[in-house]
Amino acid sequence: MITDHLISVYDRPVPRYTSYPTAPQFHAGIDAATMAEWLAGLPAEAPLSLYLHVPFCQQMCWYCGCNTQIVARHQPIGDFAGTLLAEIARVGDLLAAVRHKRIVSSIHFGGGTPNSLAPDEFERIMAALDHHFALEHDLDLAIELDPRTVNDEFLAAMRRVGVSRASLGVQDFDPVVQTAVNRVQPFELVQDCVGKLRASGIRSLNLDLIYGLPFQSVSGIRRTVAQAVDLAPDRIALFGYAHVPWMKPHQRLIDEASLPDAYARFRQFEAAAQALAAADYGRIGLDHFARAGDTLRVARDNHTLKRNFQGYTVDRADALIGFGPSAISALPQGYIQNAPDHAPWARAVSEGRLAAVKGVAVTAEDRRRRAIIEQIMCYGSVDLAAFDFDPASVMIALWPLIEDGLIHLNGCDLTVTERGLPFQRVVAAAFDAYLVPEAKRHSRAV
Ligand code: SF4
Repeated sequence: MITDHLISVYDRPVPRYTSYPTAPQFHAGIDAATMAEWLAGLPAEAPLSLYLHVPFCQQMCWYCGCNTQIVARHQPIGDFAGTLLAEIARVGDLLAAVRHKRIVSSIHFGGGTPNSLAPDEFERIMAALDHHFALEHDLDLAIELDPRTVNDEFLAAMRRVGVSRASLGVQDFDPVVQTAVNRVQPFELVQDCVGKLRASGIRSLNLDLIYGLPFQSVSGIRRTVAQAVDLAPDRIALFGYAHVPWMKPHQRLIDEASLPDAYARFRQFEAAAQALAAADYGRIGLDHFARAGDTLRVARDNHTLKRNFQGYTVDRADALIGFGPSAISALPQGYIQNAPDHAPWARAVSEGRLAAVKGVAVTAEDRRRRAIIEQIMCYGSVDLAAFDFDPASVMIALWPLIEDGLIHLNGCDLTVTERGLPFQRVVAAAFDAYLVPEAKRHSRAV
């Protein structure tokens, strides 16, 4: 039973652990020169995963935590597409200088709104990727879409380039909630988009929902989940709204009085998770749910699930290369991020440089802790002996979790209990050697 006491003690700011070390550890000592060196050192045969960040939207959703900008005209997006092509060529040439055409097993377009690109721009970007990399025959090609703006021409382009997975931002179907966050998209609009995506040959469909938004309630989120389940997506992600107006000033447009408190947020998550379980969506880690047969669920069951910047993934590539402003590359040697703002990113690329500005090298100890944290985030359990890790070294952090029944520790076997599941990030944080309590850097645990 989750008590209000547990929520008051453990609903604290902790990282989402999509990387370790986490972003606050990135520093300017890791730069474009480091990235060139790291890229040159990539094993020649290792398949790569690519992430392309498209930082444009037509209208600001007030809950948004992404790196994006609102544009009224297409010109800046067209210019961006040209710069992205140049960045793909730059990285492709650097890698080809070591070994011609690296194998790519997975490509993910995120944002922002990737379907802000014109269909021909999207196809030219895919053609450039095909030219500079050896795309695998069964390439996992995924894209995030805004159902309000995806049109038939873009869907046709997606079909031509072979997009296999699509993710639609839904958040909540309640018109009151939608109005309060400045993102109005009726159920019928999403339903129509889902139908068109299926007709376009999309093999895997994900819907993103958010709890903790203004005016959300337990009964409301149950209705939203029921409507989402009616659309029969393969996966549903259920994220907690992170209210961080000091970092995202547009969030000040949300009336704080309309936001649910920590206890209400937890009840909403719990209600949504129960409704999803009742509809046969199996829970994947912290916040994903998948139908039987979905690759995420298969990976969970055979212990091949991973966690990266896109959340839970089945991607097995050793290296992820990010393109576009703010995109992060995860290379065997460490993490490295492009300039977050558009202008410096575009300037670096147009001058023929890599746009990386900060990052962190990963040490052997980081790798050990990262593997432990990934096990906890993916499976809620870890055999610390497998990583030669003595639990006594973090007992100060683990003891309260044991006392409160959030984890069991049997020798070196750590298991997150049913009661501890909502606090998986807090358990993972016990193994984070860098974490200092900084309320303003991370979102809340629940
Ligand atoms: S569509 Fe997505 S990225 Fe764009 S403003 Fe809304 S939440 Fe942010």
